[in-house]
Amino acid sequence: MFDEGQLLSQRTGQIDASGIRRAFQLGAQLENPINLSIGQPHFPVPEEIKAAAIEAIKSDANGYTLTRGHSTLLSSIQSFLTEDIEWDFEDENIDFMVTSGTSGALVLAAWALLDPGDEFIIPDPHFVVYPALGAMTGAKPVCCDTYPDFRMTAERVEPLLTPRTKFVIINSPGNPTGIVLTDDEMRDLATLCRERGVVLLSDEIYDLFTYSAARDSRGRSPTPAHHGSDMLIVRGFGKNYGCTGWRLGFAAGPTWLIHEMAKFQQYSFVCAPSMAQHAVMSAHDVDMSPWVKAYEGKRDRVVELLSPVTDLAIPEGAFYAFPAIPSSLGMTGTEFTESLLAHNVIAIPGGVFSNRDTHMRISYATDDEALEEGLQAIAKAMA
Ligand code: PMP
Repeated sequence: MFDEGQLLSQRTGQIDASGIRRAFQLGAQLENPINLSIGQPHFPVPEEIKAAAIEAIKSDANGYTLTRGHSTLLSSIQSFLTEDIEWDFEDENIDFMVTSGTSGALVLAAWALLDPGDEFIIPDPHFVVYPALGAMTGAKPVCCDTYPDFRMTAERVEPLLTPRTKFVIINSPGNPTGIVLTDDEMRDLATLCRERGVVLLSDEIYDLFTYSAARDSRGRSPTPAHHGSDMLIVRGFGKNYGCTGWRLGFAAGPTWLIHEMAKFQQYSFVCAPSMAQHAVMSAHDVDMSPWVKAYEGKRDRVVELLSPVTDLAIPEGAFYAFPAIPSSLGMTGTEFTESLLAHNVIAIPGGVFSNRDTHMRISYATDDEALEEGLQAIAKAMA
């Protein structure tokens, strides 16, 4: 007989995964639910990327790659990034690496930067992994309250910085809100972090899903990378190409940091999945714009149906919306989303992503018919 309480580390008690798990369990119970809880695209991986993965396996490219990533994929990412964020990767002070998902990059950064007692600033609401980086390292996540417009601005971050702050995470387009920061907001955050000697960690996993009004002058998602290279940029392939299960991301930033992250990768994940690395070597040439356009149309429908019945910060990217539960209902996010189950609709209560349980997250990464039915049910329940 094991004494679990005696054996398990104290940090296990600091991670609460019950909210998300509960949403998934409820989903499993309903027959044919309208599922607006899924955090991944509903489109299939483009054929050419699938074919490249199959070809890699068949041609025996199944062994370890270099920890930093397969050299061909590294070249492909380098030329893409050179064009996109205009960093000079010939500069020995800048480096980048392939990681096991974007989550892998976040964990490596936390291991490399955080000691017990250190602090790092995260948005509230936030992607569920961010606070868990504290439990994994003994550091303290400090929440930056971004309600009600969900903009994580330098003004809101500044008062939270202390001598123990190591990094500030921003996430634009954001999960769970879909909010996209402007180029000016990015510049101010980059300046603040530089002045205070902390690392700005920009999680840009949804960068491709940035809708027309929020794109910068080059038609891309605003990024702090246009305001310096003394920061860590984290991106992924999973959401952009519908291959979330392949576990592939990359991180670019100061050499001193990437070098330490690579050391931790060597002794943990070892390398990102080899066939997946082969599969995405030409992914940046694949045109995903029809899907981005289709998702922008879904976003429009969400706004059309929900804005009249509740407070909704207009999402400009990713595939989420984070409407408030109307206060007239007197319900928490948890209560409201549970009441939706009677209508066969699954969404996630805001409390899963936040210190407050006053909102809900809707993922509109689903087909138009299901989305329409789900939104109509939500709008009716809110009105
Ligand atoms: N960052 C954010 C904001 C996310 O929403 C997610 C996935 N839901 C991740 C990182 C992790 O992505 P990956 O699957 O590439 O680890």
